Amino acid sequence: MSFSSHPSSSVVPAARVVSFEEARHLIEQHAVGVCPGEVETVELLAGLGRVLAEGIVADRDFPPFDRATRDGYAVRAADLAEVPARLEVVGEVKAGDWPEPAACSVGRGQAVGIMTGAPLPAGADAVVMVEFTSVAQRSHPNVAKNATLGWGTLAGEFVDIQRSASVGENFVPRGAEARAGQLLLDCRRRLDHAGIAIAASVGKSHERVFRKPRVAVLSTGDEVVEIDATPGPAQIRNSNSYSLAAQVQNAGGDAVRLAIAPDERGRLRALIEEGLGCDLLLLTGGVSMGKYDLVEQVLAELKAEFYFTGAEIQPGRPVVFGSCGADTPVRVSAANPPSARVGVSAPHKKYFFGLPGNPVSTMVTFELFARPMIEALAGMTPQPLIFLRARLKSEIRTKTGLKRFLPAVLSGEFENAEVELARWQGSGDIATLARANCYVVIPPDRERFEAGEWVSLLARSG
Ligand code: AMP
Ligand code: MG
Repeated sequence: MSFSSHPSSSVVPAARVVSFEEARHLIEQHAVGVCPGEVETVELLAGLGRVLAEGIVADRDFPPFDRATRDGYAVRAADLAEVPARLEVVGEVKAGDWPEPAACSVGRGQAVGIMTGAPLPAGADAVVMVEFTSVAQRSHPNVAKNATLGWGTLAGEFVDIQRSASVGENFVPRGAEARAGQLLLDCRRRLDHAGIAIAASVGKSHERVFRKPRVAVLSTGDEVVEIDATPGPAQIRNSNSYSLAAQVQNAGGDAVRLAIAPDERGRLRALIEEGLGCDLLLLTGGVSMGKYDLVEQVLAELKAEFYFTGAEIQPGRPVVFGSCGADTPVRVSAANPPSARVGVSAPHKKYFFGLPGNPVSTMVTFELFARPMIEALAGMTPQPLIFLRARLKSEIRTKTGLKRFLPAVLSGEFENAEVELARWQGSGDIATLARANCYVVIPPDRERFEAGEWVSLLARSG
């Protein structure tokens, strides 16, 4: 074992430990000021998970015609004031047909067979479901075999209707969902499958989206080795760079994994400078109180501004959030070519998060704090955290003082959700976290929750 000189002789930022809520608000305030990158055009499906740089507008009325929502008969509701009523079948419209009024319309005492998705013929003002009809056998006994379904398929047949209908029933009027020219999806929305459906339905095979922010991921620690290395007895593989890269991708960014930084000032500084060439820098490890936790010191040397250097949470208390100014030197490298350094906040300050190195702390603090900044850099409004409620399966005892996000398993059938803490070995226990599907959220002022109590929880995103 070797001893080096005490490394804490450089500028250390004054500690600023804030509550979870304050930390989150600070990040949201900074997120408002960031600019997304350039705009690019991508194919429809390549737009999944990207943030729209244009609004999507209805190219015509939605629906473009009065659209039947049931299989049945298009009728005049007034003809069904008294039921059962017998109507003359004067035609049939299936989805894709266009009922020319001259050839197919509903007059008094008449009905037209209609299928879901078909346009309502002229004269009709309601659709009666086929389940409430039967073919009048008197006129056409040869179609009686279909009588239970009530389909009269030939003009001149009669249909008996058992239920009355009100005007407007079982069809959506033209333009009721949106008028031509109406904005269907705002600019700066992230495209999910429903957004893709909207783009497809207005015939957009391509859309304009913001470039994904480039997020540098820098793991630190003398004990951390690359995943394809054979770890020595006291070494561990670098899982954080990978979990973070996955989370970055999931949040709408492009991760740039940097080399592992040793707990040594010079190399750490060089890698931090390289990372500051990206749109955001995420560091893991080296932010605790250990003698070799150098991240804050090196950032301070780079004239970083620190907005907080700890949050009253568990796991993840040592989390750091700050920025480096535009005058911070940026190192050019293969991971950081000059061509990649245009656009997003290039002339502005660069934000960074120093996330604790314990893998569970890294993952939790990313979701709580780094994700909203990536969303903002990607062009969207940061999404609020959504807390759910469930009944506790067994009691919880903790200490007061910190807001806790404890890995837990949500189970139970249908609406009877129950949640139970995963039995974990602390913030390094990735195996337990991988089995958990949520975090139970314990407020800082509670020591005990009884079994059966309702607790808040935060879903663990994919
Ligand atoms: P630190 O925050 O640097 O004090 O590290 C806390 C714990 O997290 C230590 O047990 C580290 O070995 C572990 N750790 C740090 N960085 C990583 C990493 N990149 N991947 C996996 N574990 C890590
Ligand atoms: Mg360390």
